[in-house]
Amino acid sequence: MTHNVNGKDMVLSLPWILMIAMLAGCNGSALENGEARGQTIVTSIETEESQELAMVETVQDEAIKIKAQDVSSFFDGASKDQVRMEDYGYLVGERYVLYFDKDTSFPGDLKRQIEEIMLMDEQVLGISFSVTDLVENKNWLEVYYGDVFRGIPKYQDKIHVMLAKDENDGAIPWTDGNEIMLFDSDFDPDYSSREMVYHEIAHALRLRHSLFLGKVLEEGIGVYAQYHVAQLLDTPCWCCIQFLQSSAVGFDEAAVVADPEGKFREYNLGGRSKEQPEYQYGFRLITFLMEEYGNDVIQRLSTNAAKYQ
Ligand SMILES: [Zn+2]
Repeated sequence: MTHNVNGKDMVLSLPWILMIAMLAGCNGSALENGEARGQTIVTSIETEESQELAMVETVQDEAIKIKAQDVSSFFDGASKDQVRMEDYGYLVGERYVLYFDKDTSFPGDLKRQIEEIMLMDEQVLGISFSVTDLVENKNWLEVYYGDVFRGIPKYQDKIHVMLAKDENDGAIPWTDGNEIMLFDSDFDPDYSSREMVYHEIAHALRLRHSLFLGKVLEEGIGVYAQYHVAQLLDTPCWCCIQFLQSSAVGFDEAAVVADPEGKFREYNLGGRSKEQPEYQYGFRLITFLMEEYGNDVIQRLSTNAAKYQ
C-alpha cells in the first residue's frame, strides 16, 4: 500500500460543507432518543483467528428502532486482535460514540486507542472536551447511512465518530463540527494514516470551544496536534514531513515573510491546492504562537472567539 503525503483530510473544506448542507436540507428528521422495537438482533464479530463471537441481544420495545447493533460490551476487554465487524454497530463510550460501518476491520483495542488520542489531544492543545455549550451536532450520519443509526442519542458531551469502510485504502477522513468521519484503514498498522486520527479529533476538540477560526488556524491546530501527539506516542508523523520541509512541496516562504497578513487572508480564503499552504503556514503559525505566548494560547484564542458567536 502506498501513502499519499498530499492526501490530507477534508475537514471544513467548502465542497463537503456545501454537500452536507444541501443534503441536510432534504433529510431533516432529527435523531431522537430511543431503543429498538422488540426484536432480536444478531451481530457477529470475527477475530483474525476466525473465532466468531456471536452476540445476541433482545432490546426493549420503544418508538424508534435502532438498526445498528450495540457492541459496547465487546470492547470492554483490551484485545489487540484485529476485529472484523460484519454488520452495522455502535458503542457508547464515556466521551464519544463510535459508529461502525459494515465489514470494517480494526484493532480490538480501538476503544482504548481513541480514548488515548483524545487525552493526548487535550494535553497538547491545552483545551478540554468537557466544554459542551457550543457543540453543534449535524445529521450527516443520516445523510450517508439513512436510518441505520437513527435513535442513538446525539450526546452533547461526546464526540461522534463514524468508522467507515475504506474500500481502496485511500479515503480521506474529515470532521464537521462534532462529527468525525474516519476509515478503518486509519487504524491499519500497515498503513501510515493513523496520525490523521489525532488531527481529526483535534478539530472536533477545538470546534467545541468556538465557531470556526478560519482555515489557517484550524488546520494549523490539527497539524500541530498530529505532530506532537505522534511524538508523545513515539509513532511516525509522515505527513508532517511536508509541513516541516517547505522545499518539498513548493511552499513559498518568501511570500509569507514579505506579506504575512496578506498570506493569512489568502490561505484562509483559498481553495484546496496540492501545496496546502493553509496546513503548512498554519502549523508554523500555531507553533510560533505556542512558543511565544505559552501553551494556553489556543485556549485563550478559543475563549475570546467564543464571545463573537
Ligand atoms: Zn484538518
